[in-house]
Amino acid sequence: MSKSNKHNLAIETILTHHGRDPGEQFGVVNTPVYRASTVLHPDLETLLTHNQPYHYGRRGTPSSRSVEDVITKLEGGEGSKLTPSGLSAISCALMSVLSSGDELLVSDSAYEPTRKLAEGYLARMGVSTRYFDPRIGGGIADMVGKNTRAIMLESPGSLTFELNDIPAISAAVQGHNISIIVDNTWGTPLYYNPLALGANIVVHAGTKMFVGHSDAMFGTITCDEAHWPALVDTHGLLGLCASPDDCFLAARGLRTLALRMKEHSARSIKMAQWLEGLDIVQEVLHPALPSHPDHKIFTRDFSGSGSLFSFSLPRAPQKALAAMIDKMELFGIGYSWGGFESLILPVNLSSNRSSTAWPNDNQIIRIHIGLEGFEDLRADIEAGIARYRAVM
Ligand SMILES: *Cc1c(COP(=O)(O)O)cnc(C)c1O
Repeated sequence: MSKSNKHNLAIETILTHHGRDPGEQFGVVNTPVYRASTVLHPDLETLLTHNQPYHYGRRGTPSSRSVEDVITKLEGGEGSKLTPSGLSAISCALMSVLSSGDELLVSDSAYEPTRKLAEGYLARMGVSTRYFDPRIGGGIADMVGKNTRAIMLESPGSLTFELNDIPAISAAVQGHNISIIVDNTWGTPLYYNPLALGANIVVHAGTKMFVGHSDAMFGTITCDEAHWPALVDTHGLLGLCASPDDCFLAARGLRTLALRMKEHSARSIKMAQWLEGLDIVQEVLHPALPSHPDHKIFTRDFSGSGSLFSFSLPRAPQKALAAMIDKMELFGIGYSWGGFESLILPVNLSSNRSSTAWPNDNQIIRIHIGLEGFEDLRADIEAGIARYRAVM
């Protein structure tokens, strides 16, 4: 795209101008939805040489290109591939680097479906998995075996919010032919750049902040030059592609990502600080707070905060939790996050930890801070906690 040749553009400028070329679209500002299976070729020579930008719907359209170009530029990778969900981005990334007989190391804070994929499908394909303390840092060197080929990180983990020390982990496995994959859904490329810190592959649940409006499923994979051929190959062999309509929604969401993240970031920190001051709150799991054990890594590696964090209350019967959650007026009860609207979810760690025991039995509650009036959100949580306390 013509605008991609300028250097040192601000992230906000990349988000608003990359991945679209009105000159190629009759002046239309946003790249329209290209619904396509067949793409016609003018002659046999072109068909055989693939000497035109697009060949077949699954292999890419201007709609998919419009998102790939933005993400690749933001993450600083060799290229990006799109998938129909965040989970398929994780599975495709893992399959692009793992073969039968290999071992995968997974951060114990990783998102539950990642664990299920490892223990179910990957195990069946002959890949073994071990989990490690998210705070292991350079200590990962002691876990590396001769078959270790990949390390899966999620920083922060999206339930308990420990940070992985990517530079330390990357330095510790240097020279071992191990690929480091990072789920960067929380920080987004706006605030966190895993490839620059030593990772090889970055995945996103674009479903969350990129789409930003809770109305599409989407995933992206971006990698360095060395990993690109295998990623292209695996993504193609698995037959993955994202729907042009969802590409359009992701591209549209990205245009306002910087603005939305700035609001989400400020509000989630403000809410976390307020919660930290309440007697009944046992801990606030938010890496932007100075009280968080990984705050030093946060200030070193992140330039802003995600919308999502957890806090905990003293363990109480389920009816206390129901009293709180069922009557929330603004926080919706539901999976996912990253939309304009606030969400609340109880966290159950029993199916989510294996190498490290969580140090207490408090009731963890995860919240996504949306774009409603901040005082309205604060009052909603305050009333919810009062209901919890009344039944506890
Ligand atoms: C939601 C989520 C995913 C999975 O994304 P889907 O689009 O729901 O498949 C992966 N990683 C993290 C951190 C998530 O929050």
